[in-house]
Amino acid sequence: MPKKKKKKTVTEIKCPSCGNTDLDTIEWQEWVVVSRKLNELTEGTLLVDGGSEKMDFESGKDESLYCKGCYSEFPIPDGLDVDHV
Ligand SMILES: [Zn+2]
Repeated sequence: MPKKKKKKTVTEIKCPSCGNTDLDTIEWQEWVVVSRKLNELTEGTLLVDGGSEKMDFESGKDESLYCKGCYSEFPIPDGLDVDHV
């Protein structure tokens, strides 16, 4: 079996501004598309279903990390595997 080229593994998340590596003070942020069903349009009022909220993580974009230590945003490191749990 041919040996697969191993991709770079990210071993820590580090804020480039202040050097913070504490995951408790770093947050993930992304723009998420929320789709809602339209119920009806009555007398100029559009009724939008509030219960069918659907988070579409696949189309999440502009993802970044946010350091609460120095209030700055920084990009997600290359090669980082992300699982939404
Ligand atoms: Zn920071």
